[in-house]
Amino acid sequence: MLEKDIEKILVSEKQIEEICVRLGKQITEDYQGKDPLIIGLLKGCMPFMAQLIKNIDLYCEIELMGVSSYHGGISSSSDVKITKDLDASVSHRHVLIAEDIVDTGKTLDVITKLLLHRGAASVEVVTLLDKPEGRIVPFTPKYVGTVIPKAFVVGYGLDYDERYRNLPYVGILKAEVYKK
Ligand code: 5GP
Repeated sequence: MLEKDIEKILVSEKQIEEICVRLGKQITEDYQGKDPLIIGLLKGCMPFMAQLIKNIDLYCEIELMGVSSYHGGISSSSDVKITKDLDASVSHRHVLIAEDIVDTGKTLDVITKLLLHRGAASVEVVTLLDKPEGRIVPFTPKYVGTVIPKAFVVGYGLDYDERYRNLPYVGILKAEVYKK
């Protein structure tokens, strides 16, 4: 039913599984003895974070933060709004932010600076997708699932108007859907 709105599958379910295994292994190696605090940015992080943490073999804690920058459209707004703040302190913690996609870089630039300001020992980012061509603010995530071209994508947590987050893959939405 949802598939009819998708122009092209960009990252398949199998590729996402492989990405999570690879990133999970890398994070497990890099964070030995650091007990990281993994912070997911809602709502897009949900499926990715759930899959990723199953591949991290470490003592770690998870937290969620609500951040919004799209407000229903297909291009980032310049405003980064915190819609739900953290319940735990990040002071002296090694923080790993789990994100669905990095586009302009504004969201992660703001959130990384905020968490460092709050006393985190380190802040790194793991993102399923990276769209470097969309960058407005220089930002390089440490862990990247895959690089994609500058297109508006949905699925695996990513929405258009709050829909399509439940697709098991990442795809390009047909233009006719958002031109309606
Ligand atoms: P940035 O601040 O890097 O521009 O944007 C990060 C946020 O914008 C992501 O967490 C995501 O919510 C949204 N975003 C960026 N590119 C896309 C896209 O292609 N599709 C969707 N659905 N959201 C996107």
